[in-house]
Amino acid sequence: MKPDLLERLRCVKLFLLDLDGTVYLGSKPIPGALDFIGNLKRCGIGYLFLTNNSSKSAAEYVAKLTAMGFSVGPDRVVTSGQVTGWYLAGKKPGAKLYVVGTASLKAELAAHDLRVVNDAAGGVDFVVAGFDRELTYDKLLVAVELLAGGAPFIATNPDLVCPVGENRYIPDCGSICVLLENAARRTPMFIGKPHTKMVDYIRALHHVSPRSMAVIGDRLYTDIALGCNASIMSICVLSGESDKSAVAKSPYKPDLVIETVAELNRFFK
Ligand SMILES: [Mg+2]
Repeated sequence: MKPDLLERLRCVKLFLLDLDGTVYLGSKPIPGALDFIGNLKRCGIGYLFLTNNSSKSAAEYVAKLTAMGFSVGPDRVVTSGQVTGWYLAGKKPGAKLYVVGTASLKAELAAHDLRVVNDAAGGVDFVVAGFDRELTYDKLLVAVELLAGGAPFIATNPDLVCPVGENRYIPDCGSICVLLENAARRTPMFIGKPHTKMVDYIRALHHVSPRSMAVIGDRLYTDIALGCNASIMSICVLSGESDKSAVAKSPYKPDLVIETVAELNRFFK
């Protein structure tokens, strides 16, 4: 490793770790990932698990990570749903929302004292789209009407698909937004990776400078692009959806490319 890169790595006080493809694959930890978290704890270096998946709550991720052997409390997980709630509550406290999202996302937004309504009569302050695994045509109809009427359009994350193991993918928030965009002729403002609101949220909570953070992830257009957009160090792991040729072709260039997080263990003993 180049000396300047090693120096940068040694300055990191907070690692932002993607989940699927980075610390686990499906329901199995990536070999060396548990050791990496253990090493960070021992060295007093912070870490957060960052996910764009807005269909599940932080508590559900804590349960999943704990079952795999990661020692993690709810304060270690940041979801795009949480950041969306934080952002909207800051924009307009108590805002009225129509949500194309799961019951879990609605609960997350309500926890930020936002008013999630099923009956959108009289209009809403924002239409929020998420990774809606409970999507119905009726929800789309209401959202399109509100958007066509001018309601601000917020989306939790731009991912087109979500990996579900063994090279299988299911439609994610980005794909639902393509439908809404085409039907309503409106473009959403995205909150999750690679948009810097995720980092704004973390900085507001943890008071860490961009220079002291590094993002580790497998997806170039979200994880690595977040590093580029927020001017924080980015480390691409080849244990998920990207290989060397994808990295070479990507407009988002990671500072470091490694096979798996296990390669970082020698630096944090
Ligand atoms: Mg990933």
